[in-house]
Amino acid sequence: MAREERKWNDRFLAYMEMIVNHPNYKGLPIKRKDDGSLAWIATAKSEIGQKRIEWCLNKADELGIERRAGVYADVMLRIHPTKWKVCQTCGNEMSLYYHYPNANFVKAINKKYSTDFTDCDHISDIWDKLIKSGVNEKEFADFLIKKGELDLNSSSATKDIIIESLEYKCRKGNKSLLGPGAMSNFPDRYDGFHTYNRCCRSAQDKGRSKENLKSYTKDRRAYEYWSDGNIHAADQFMGSSFFEGTSADHIGPISLGFVHDPR
Ligand SMILES: [Zn+2]
Repeated sequence: MAREERKWNDRFLAYMEMIVNHPNYKGLPIKRKDDGSLAWIATAKSEIGQKRIEWCLNKADELGIERRAGVYADVMLRIHPTKWKVCQTCGNEMSLYYHYPNANFVKAINKKYSTDFTDCDHISDIWDKLIKSGVNEKEFADFLIKKGELDLNSSSATKDIIIESLEYKCRKGNKSLLGPGAMSNFPDRYDGFHTYNRCCRSAQDKGRSKENLKSYTKDRRAYEYWSDGNIHAADQFMGSSFFEGTSADHIGPISLGFVHDPR
């Protein structure tokens, strides 16, 4: 069956040109195809992918970001000129910060306030709409502070401060209340983020549809090729915050018999 090629949204094409021509990305390699379009995608193993990685690590040193798990995500977010990314599929913009409620959190909000927000509503918009509909601002502030276990006081902390610390805790800490408008994906994507945003994620990536997301941290292949490793611990580790903003990988392919093991 021939795979139909997705047509990229015009706004995404303009976004790619904006990024590539922005001084923040000076020296980050990208090629143009014969038809003049940008070769946005490159695998980590390709020559261009390797050069992108080298560029990113040097940029990390320049910015004083430590070379450890999640370093690509940190660098690419830091240098992104707008922090808003256009969706390749629908052309809408979403924040690159962890600004959108994840499934369970949006469910909790909707249950508490009898609303119908989705996981693509920005937390700042949710805040504004709730207050506008008559919810007490301090009460909602307390709700977020409690959910996020934030070290803040609703009497003194502003909306911006509360959202900022909740965002940071979800991005860098161990809270999963909020998620980003687009997941990190460097060096595969030039700007370091998936081409499609949160809005079109489950439709585009068949392997990560909503039902499959729940079991994503379990690497099924491990069971097929290896039955005596420290599999559960490895799964836990892959799904842990250590790999937040990056993806866990094995030393060698599981299909060739490499161990799925946390070590
Ligand atoms: Zn979209």
